[in-house]
Amino acid sequence: MASPMSASRFLDVLRDEGISVVQVGDWRTHNRNHVGPWGPVHGVMIHHTVTSGTAKTVRICRDGYAGLPGPLCHGVIAKSGSLHLVGYGRANHAGLGDDDVLRAVIAETALPPDNESNTDGNRHFYGFECENLGDGQDPWPEAQLDTIERAAAAVCRHHGWNSRSVIGHLEWQPGKIDPRGFSMNTMRARIQDRLA
Ligand SMILES: [Zn+2]
Repeated sequence: MASPMSASRFLDVLRDEGISVVQVGDWRTHNRNHVGPWGPVHGVMIHHTVTSGTAKTVRICRDGYAGLPGPLCHGVIAKSGSLHLVGYGRANHAGLGDDDVLRAVIAETALPPDNESNTDGNRHFYGFECENLGDGQDPWPEAQLDTIERAAAAVCRHHGWNSRSVIGHLEWQPGKIDPRGFSMNTMRARIQDRLA
């Protein structure tokens, strides 16, 4: 049971982890809190955007699109490794996922298969969208993977979580494939090393 950190604290922990952060517009108050709850928070979710080009990617993640209003995450992690803050609070990134997965994230135990869509993830997860086409061909530069590792570790460090509190969208919601192109187990091992 953890309350979301403040926007200022979120910015601080990301910078303290050595990340180059770009603040986009009114990110601190750009959220979906008017349509549902934000918190308690239990983990961090990693996504790919299926876009190319950082400016376009950041704009879509901030504004959303027809049928899915933004913000679509809290931070966008560009191929260069820069992290763009587009929103803070409830964001449209996680959708409905599996309550058994949420229980495992809370307990920091092994993940069960995600085979139900019965639980509001936007309430409970910090979300990072990563610039990638998600086709299995588009490369993941080391600078980008490094920022994913640092951003997830920064949130875990603040809350006293370990790397099992970090999941991919594909581990949460049936039918999702993101992130594609690197393994979440490998990323969790990197995060755990960083936290140690
Ligand atoms: Zn996703």
